[in-house]
Amino acid sequence: MSRNLLKGQCLCGAVKITVRDPAGWVGVCHCDMCKRWSGAVFSSFPAKDVTVAGAVETYQSSPTSTRSFCPKCGSHLYMQDAGEPNYDMMPGLFDATRDWPLTSEIYTDHALCWAHLAGPHKRATQNEYEAEYPSPMGDKP
Ligand SMILES: [Zn+2]
Ligand SMILES: [Zn+2]
Repeated sequence: MSRNLLKGQCLCGAVKITVRDPAGWVGVCHCDMCKRWSGAVFSSFPAKDVTVAGAVETYQSSPTSTRSFCPKCGSHLYMQDAGEPNYDMMPGLFDATRDWPLTSEIYTDHALCWAHLAGPHKRATQNEYEAEYPSPMGDKP
């Protein structure tokens, strides 16, 4: 049985990442931590079966989550929740994610004023999101 392999890399190529059977969609978070870490608009997709080759630096951004990046070029790679094997992977590392749809946008009331993302995806403010999920992506904004 053939499996869907997604291959990507950081800007300098020192880190190469392979994801098996990727989600095929992207979510955006505008919380203050994600905004600061990304520089403007943070997006990610969930991944479980991940192979990372190359040295990675990891920053503990909250008691429950870490954010990893390439120590050479600074490219952001992924977030992880402590004790969970799941990754929130940066889609821009992978050419093949270009056509993936945006399915959810959270913390819309924290977005930069020009960051209006078009489409029929789900949207939630901080209050709406935290009513459903007390700890967004393992972080507090
Ligand atoms: Zn790099
Ligand atoms: Zn966030």
